[in-house]
Amino acid sequence: MNDAPRIVLLPGDGIGPEIVAAARRLLEELGDYRFNEQLMGGCSIDEHGVALTEDVLAACRESDAVLLGAVGGPKWDTTDPDAPRPEQGLLGLRKGMGLYANLRPVRPSPALVSASPLRPEVIANTDLLVVRELTGGIYFGQSGRDGDTAHDTCEYSVDEVERIARAAFDAARHRAEGRGGDARVTSVDKANVLETSRLWREVVTQVGDANPDVQLEHLLVDNAAMQLVSRPSDFDTIVTENLFGDILSDESAMLTGSLGMLPSASLGADGAPGLFEPVHGSAPDIAGQGVANPLATFLSAAMMLRHGLGQADRAGRIEAAVDAVLGRGLRTPDLATAGESTVGTDEITDAVLVEIGQ
Ligand code: NAD
Repeated sequence: MNDAPRIVLLPGDGIGPEIVAAARRLLEELGDYRFNEQLMGGCSIDEHGVALTEDVLAACRESDAVLLGAVGGPKWDTTDPDAPRPEQGLLGLRKGMGLYANLRPVRPSPALVSASPLRPEVIANTDLLVVRELTGGIYFGQSGRDGDTAHDTCEYSVDEVERIARAAFDAARHRAEGRGGDARVTSVDKANVLETSRLWREVVTQVGDANPDVQLEHLLVDNAAMQLVSRPSDFDTIVTENLFGDILSDESAMLTGSLGMLPSASLGADGAPGLFEPVHGSAPDIAGQGVANPLATFLSAAMMLRHGLGQADRAGRIEAAVDAVLGRGLRTPDLATAGESTVGTDEITDAVLVEIGQ
């Protein structure tokens, strides 16, 4: 019986098929995986009339991990509220797979520190992970209007905080496994003002007590926003609720300055498959030209190996190969500064494969 991990590939639209095909070549070089490629997004609307079919969702739920390219494009842009939209596929996957933790690492490649809006000495050695709660908090609480006032309610339960805290401690431990050193978690809240934050802090502290191998500190969100730009390299794993996480993960993403380099993961219950995808969109402006930067998808595949399949060694090999290729000066057009020569998707993929083979 073949017990190789089952990976569902959802290339999607625009540059999605180009970057996912490149990631598949990489994974095939690294080991034995069983791939199942499926339609999701605009391509699924064209074929089936919906962005995500029940069959594709079922295949994702039965897999060990899902790797997604990107969805959407002008072809499916519509103002008709009843017309199907590609993003409905993403929402359907998040809900149908029970994904409640979003992980966004920020680790600028040493060769690209000059792309950061921060000074090189501030951004150097930054290697952090933002873990954001995805399904609770003020975005999902009761909201409404009464005359000239409006309200949005923020609610969190012990269970919701506990599971995201556990996801963050596990992620911190997986990261430490790969690089050595201590695992550290910074929990971000507003416990001086908000009752939900006081519950958050209490529960995260209890989960911390149960994970004594991981160091835990608490930071108020206003302070965290400042520290992220003044000393980003001091952070390891940051865990926070939905609204704070929405803002801090975008702030962190900007630290690198390179959209084509950012991976992400969304995780569900223990043992359930996660969804791994680049942060960028389907880049319809460059689709089909062979110039898409596949590195964010490679780094998403590395997250899949580390956080989804328990293969931290192989994840580290991908990350080291990406750094090496950038260190040798190879650049896709989105990464190049004026005057630098550029390579396409195939050339940079070949170069990463050579590094991995060494
Ligand atoms: P985008 O991220 O697709 O593109 C923004 C700019 O960055 C473009 O100039 C694009 O060429 C460039 N770019 C992005 N990724 C790149 C890569 N890997 N290599 C080289 N260049 C890259 O954002 P957008 O233009 O706002 O959106 C385009 C489409 O993507 C829209 O339909 C949007 O809804 C969709 N989208 C999808 C996702 C997703 O699937 N998760 C996320 C964001 C946007």
